[in-house]
Amino acid sequence: MSITRVVVPALLTLAPLAMASLAAQSPKYDLLLTGGHVIDARNNISAVRDVAIAGGKVAAVAEKIDPAEALKTVSVSGLYVVPGLIDIHVHAYTGTGERNSYAGDNSIYPDGFTFRSGVTTVVDAGGAGWRNFDDFKDRVIDRAKTRVLALVNIVGNGMRGEKFENNLDDMQAKPAADMALKHKGLIVGVKTAHYAGPEWTPVERAVEAGTIANIPVMVDFGTDHPERPVAELVTKKLRPGDIYTHMYSGLRHELVDGHVNPGLIEGRQRGVLFDVGHGGGSFAWRVAVPSMKEGFIPDTISTDLHIGSMNAGMKDMINVMSKFLVLGEPIDQVIAQSTWHAARAIKQEGLGHLSPGAEADVAVLRLERGKFGYVDSFGARMDGDQRLVCELTVRAGKVVYDLNGITRPEWTTLPADYRATGDVRWDALNPGRR
Ligand SMILES: [Zn+2]
Repeated sequence: MSITRVVVPALLTLAPLAMASLAAQSPKYDLLLTGGHVIDARNNISAVRDVAIAGGKVAAVAEKIDPAEALKTVSVSGLYVVPGLIDIHVHAYTGTGERNSYAGDNSIYPDGFTFRSGVTTVVDAGGAGWRNFDDFKDRVIDRAKTRVLALVNIVGNGMRGEKFENNLDDMQAKPAADMALKHKGLIVGVKTAHYAGPEWTPVERAVEAGTIANIPVMVDFGTDHPERPVAELVTKKLRPGDIYTHMYSGLRHELVDGHVNPGLIEGRQRGVLFDVGHGGGSFAWRVAVPSMKEGFIPDTISTDLHIGSMNAGMKDMINVMSKFLVLGEPIDQVIAQSTWHAARAIKQEGLGHLSPGAEADVAVLRLERGKFGYVDSFGARMDGDQRLVCELTVRAGKVVYDLNGITRPEWTTLPADYRATGDVRWDALNPGRR
């Protein structure tokens, strides 16, 4: 009894001390990026700042954060530190069905193509409709490290081929809207694409679904038809907040007599958004250059990523962004169009910025000066003197891409048996896990 009486008070006294010393040993931040130029459009930041990450979230953005408070500090001086890029037009799913020439058949698995160009969020543009969305979710969305959001196709079968995409009977607003409501925050819009007929039905049904589910519609306006002019689409059929993609294709009279179609300008004044959607056939210098000169700039920059476009002029998100630098846009604007403006277009305002508390999706980019060439969807080159390169990508606080190993220790500084420590293993890239 006497021993117990002595020991218990001693433990009670020591416990708070022990906890305090543990807290002192464990740094406040997992990762600290110092000295980079932060561009965060939502928070009106374009300045040199330190960015601290803890527990998968942005913990602090400030002029100076003490490295002593971080488990790992990485200097990113001379680089741009921006929110993880958001590409609102990619193709990451193809339903089983007949093969055709459209993007869906060439869809890519996201993680292989996103992180290496600073992209942490993609929006699949209508690969699946309500009939096969569950399959898309199971096979791709739930397995990808990239955040994959979706526009549900107004066609129940999604992009399964021309036969399916031209079937008006399979374009039903109610089941598409129901699927979107079932997956709120995952299905962020409705897509209509590739329609070859003269009817307005695909657009009308998509808008109906978007209205029921309170989400935007993205339109790939398909084959040109005099019965449904693009001006009428954006001034009458679409709602403010709906998105016209492929804005510089020139395939649907985006230019009239060398000038921006006045209907598109009126559409923008109504609040319709205009997206690049570069793709394999939707970005022409002869459309983009005069449009930009007249101030018809993109609301959002996106790739229309699929196997065809990535091996042709499009390549990847930062290549498309570099084109807009070469076209004369300031870098702050290019970043905004690829982050915060993209998040707002899909009404996901928790994304696209580096506010403390936001999920730590971060891209670190290098702006190179030199002699570069940029090719449009039709094989024409424009020379430029700037190119963005992705140096580092962080997704939910984890390093998922590191071009030059800037978060890694130099090998000669490590113990001889470093291969066994796990400390430098590729799967230990998340500093917080060590
Ligand atoms: Zn597309």
